[in-house]
Order: sequence, then C-alpha cells, then structure tokens
Amino acid sequence: MSSENYDVIVLGAGAAGLFSAIEAGKRGRSVCVIDHSKKPAEKIRISGGGRCNFTNVNVHPSRFISQNPHFCKSALKQYTQHDFIARVEERGIEYHEKTLGQLFCDKSAKEIIDMLLDDCETNKVDIKLNTQVLDVSKRDTEFYIKTNSGGMHCESLIVATGGLSIPKMGATPFAYELAKQFGLKIIDPRPGLVPFTFGGELLEQMSELSGVSVNSRMDTGQVAFEEALLFTHRGLSGPVSLQASSYWQLGNEIEVDLALGVDVLELLKEGRKSAPKRQLSSILEGFLPSRLAQMIADQTFGEVRMADLSNAKLEDIAKRVSNWRLKPVGTEGYRTAEVTIGGIDTNDLSSKTMEAKEVPGLFFIGEAVDVTGWLGGYNFQWAWSSGYVAGLNA
Ligand SMILES: Cc1cc2nc3c(=O)[nH]c(=O)nc-3n(C[C@H](O)[C@H](O)[C@H](O)COP(=O)(O)OP(=O)(O)OC[C@H]3O[C@@H](n4cnc5c(N)ncnc54)[C@H](O)[C@@H]3O)c2cc1C
Repeated sequence: MSSENYDVIVLGAGAAGLFSAIEAGKRGRSVCVIDHSKKPAEKIRISGGGRCNFTNVNVHPSRFISQNPHFCKSALKQYTQHDFIARVEERGIEYHEKTLGQLFCDKSAKEIIDMLLDDCETNKVDIKLNTQVLDVSKRDTEFYIKTNSGGMHCESLIVATGGLSIPKMGATPFAYELAKQFGLKIIDPRPGLVPFTFGGELLEQMSELSGVSVNSRMDTGQVAFEEALLFTHRGLSGPVSLQASSYWQLGNEIEVDLALGVDVLELLKEGRKSAPKRQLSSILEGFLPSRLAQMIADQTFGEVRMADLSNAKLEDIAKRVSNWRLKPVGTEGYRTAEVTIGGIDTNDLSSKTMEAKEVPGLFFIGEAVDVTGWLGGYNFQWAWSSGYVAGLNA
C-alpha cells in the first residue's frame, strides 16, 4: 500500500505543534500536522477566559517547574516572549497587559488561532484533523505512521500531543506512551494549576464562603504566591491557589494570609482602643469581606466586644487571619487542571533542539515535556519556544 511522504510530521495541532510546523515549513520542509480532534488548537480557544494570555513580559526560567530547572533556558532564549509579541504586533492583533506582565488579546483568542492557521497555509503546512494515529515505528532513518486514513512516513517526527489536562478536550497519554516505546523516561505526571479540594468541616466552612475573594498570600513551604484567592463549594481556587497547587504534594499543608499587606494584630489593637464596645466581626470587616470576617469571629471567640479580648486572644485572631494553616485533601484533578506537571524526562532530550538524544529525528515539545510554567502566559511561551527550536531542527 502506498503511503504519503513528508519531511516532517507533527502529531498534535495545539500551540506547540502548529508553531513547530510553521517554522519547519519556513525552511522549505514539507510538513503535515495530524490531530485526532475535529478542530485545531482548542486549548488556545478557551485559554485566558477566551482572550488567550499568550505570553508574559517577565518570562524567566525561574517561572518554570521541571526536574531540571536549566533545561528550558535554551529554547526560551532562542525564541523569546519579545519574538512572539513582535509577531502578534505584525499581525495587527491588539492586546493589553493585565497584571504581573500577563499579555491578553483585546478581542479574542481566535485571533491567535487564525494567525497560526494562516501562517501554516503560507508555509504550505498540511493539517489532517479527525485522524487517529494507530501505530508509529522507525525503520532506518524513517518514521512510519499508521493512521485510520492510511499510512504516512517522514524523516522527522515532532510529538506535540500535550499532557493529560482536560480529557474532554482530547487530552491523551499518547506522548508518554510513544516516548516509552522509544526508550525515553517519564517523570510521573500530575495535575497543575488546579483548584484545591477540602473535606469535612473545613469544606463546609469554605462552601459557605463560596464566591468570596480576597487578595492573599499562599505559602506551600517551598514557594509563596501573592494573588487573589477564591472560596468555592469544593475548596479554594483563584490564581493564588492554582499557582500554589503546582508545587503542592498530597499530605502537605499550606499557609494562607487572608489579609495581604495588613498588620492584623495592629488593627485589632487599634480597634480595641478606639471602639471597645464594637463586636469582633465588625472590626474584622474593616479589612476582610463580611462573610469571611463573620466566619473568623465565629471560629475564634464568637460575638464578643473588643474590650473583652486580651492581647493573647488578639494574637490568636491575627494568626488565624494571617497564618491560616490548612491541609487540602486533594485537587480537582485533570478534569479542571490547566496543565500537567511532569512528562517526558528532559534528560533524554536535547535542550537546544528538543530532539531525543538516542532517537535521531524524534522530537518532543510543549506540555508533553517535563517543563511546566506558572500561571500567566508562561505555558504558551514554552509551547512557542520549544515548538520553534524543534521546527528549526526537524
Ligand atoms: C482552561 C485552560 C486555560 C489556559 N489558559 C492559558 C493561558 O491563558 N496562557 C497560557 O500560557 N496557558 C494556558 N493554558 C495552558 C495551555 O493551554 C497549554 O499549556 C498549551 O495549550 C500546551 O500546548 P501543547 O501544544 O503542548 O498541547 P495542547 O494545546 O494540549 O495540544 C495538544 C494537541 O494534541 C492533540 N492530541 C492529543 N492526543 C492525541 C492523539 N492521541 N492523537 C492525535 N492528536 C492528539 C489534542 O487534540 C491537541 O490538539 C490553559 C489551559 C487550560 C486547560
């Protein structure tokens, strides 16, 4: 049976796959991208609340999690956030900086997808959607890819099928399985950028606060983040929780400061002096949302007058607000996780090209690899940077 021949085949039409295909196409390589989904780049479409936080002005290797923290440096240097911003500007996509250097499209994530698809067309990249990859093998210097619509072969194979997050959007362990088939190791994957879940009484309290948001600090013991925290009917979400979740391991405690930048003990002492007859909850409401203030009052000394609280009691209350230690029972898992931590062991890849060290012509890029960014556009930058270097070398 005849099979189609390409210089480069890319598996996965997400951010990393499309970007690598464009770069390979620019070099005059014949390129085909294969995806099992009906539409390309579905995660770009839903990203950043529909506006795609496509990169971050503060990209730095320290904002990426990996067993080898140095691995991401080369790709991030070869294709920087400024390179991607320049492409976005050249395309005429309007964007804005939100907070912490995060860049979002003014209008829609679809503009990024359209840019990538137009760049694929300009560079003669074929895209085959709705296509199942049934088998991959290598003979001599060629890869054979068996799909449900026929056979294909290529000189270079780029695997960009992502991680395990959001299975209902087509996430599969394909990249890990293929890596293992070719003798590469996998760092155990786990959900990242995902809300925390709680149980028992703590969960009941949190559900009562569902919808309440505070500017907070969350410390995992390893690293601390300062951003908004959101109580939900399952536990804790909001950017600060998502960020911390990527560093959290089952069984660990987290410490939360619910009144970021506020000297709580000082304010409580002041309150006792200036308004001794006021209730504790009403003083707490001075710097906390009222439902949260009420809960903290109830959990500490109830509806007492400030005058009746000793210094030791004020210290207990201040600790409860600023050093709240709690143990999540888990996370919401891959169902809602924005990313997958872990993946293909970077020891088995070249950091300059993303090519497997022992399998010439085989490349792994994007989220499939054990490099995971913080919340804030870092994960797309990793997709662009790793895709770029693979596209230059495949
Ligand atoms: C809700 C949400 C919001 C996000 N928002 C942002 C954001 O604003 N900024 C940011 O930087 N990051 C964001 N992320 C993370 C970002 O989307 C990912 O890190 C990025 O999409 C990874 O790109 P990728 O190309 O490696 O993988 P993916 O985008 O996951 O693409 C993988 C592709 O491979 C295909 N595929 C999978 N298995 C197979 C198979 N067996 N055969 C064929 N094809 C297969 C999939 O259909 C998919 O098209 C968000 C993630 C989520 C879930």
